[in-house]
Formats: sequence, C-alpha cells, structure tokens
Amino acid sequence: VTTLPVPRAPHLSEAEEFWKAVAADTFLLEQCRGCTAVVWYPRGFCPSCGSTDVALVAASGEGSVYSFSVVHRAAGDYRGHEPYVVAYVELDEGPRLLTNVVGCDPDGLAIGARVRMIFEHGADGATLYRFTPV
Ligand SMILES: [Zn+2]
Repeated sequence: VTTLPVPRAPHLSEAEEFWKAVAADTFLLEQCRGCTAVVWYPRGFCPSCGSTDVALVAASGEGSVYSFSVVHRAAGDYRGHEPYVVAYVELDEGPRLLTNVVGCDPDGLAIGARVRMIFEHGADGATLYRFTPV
C-alpha cells in the first residue's frame, strides 16, 4: 500500500477499452496483427507499420527498473508524500512505462531490479497502475 495520491489519468477516446481494463485491475497492451509489434501507449494503430489491425492482449505485469529518480521535494498533490520513486519500468514485453515504484525503500532500489505491477484505487474511483519490487 502506497501513500501516493491516485490521480485520474486523462483518457484518450482511442484508449477507452484500455482504461476500462485498468479499472478492473488488468493491464492490456496493443499488439499489431500485421507485424506483431507491441504498441505502447494504446492508440488504435501500429506506429511500426501503420496498420490499424491491433488487438489488446493481456500483459504479464512483470518487468525491471530501466531508470529511476527519487523525488525529495514534490509539488501539488504529491507534496508531503516524499521521498518517492519515479521510474521507467521496462515490461518484459518491451515497452517502457513512466510510473512509480512503491512499497520499497527508495534508497534500496536499483536499476535492473525486478518489479511487478499493482493496481491502486483512489477515493473517486480512479485506478492507476504502479510497480513494487518482487
Ligand atoms: Zn505493425
């Protein structure tokens, strides 16, 4: 359980199905049926080959820390929740997500650390995916 706020993410209309899945604690990635590229972020077409024949497929939720920073002085809703980790997590499927790693001592985190996705729910019904060390 994190102490970070769970803001409502802006929803693109092309990603409505993606966000509905997130609200049900499921993370989907788009995959191109033409060239098999895994697409992040969800957008309804493949940026590799231009095909609109993309399907949402369940992701493993497993990955590793590609890079991270520890925030010691935050602004807005995040003020008072420091220190916390902002990270790029590289999913085992390939895409890198800008996210938070929670449930750990920020000073103990390392690049390459294995992490798994968790889902956090805000008071207003918003759901956000984050990661925690395995
Ligand atoms: Zn493609």
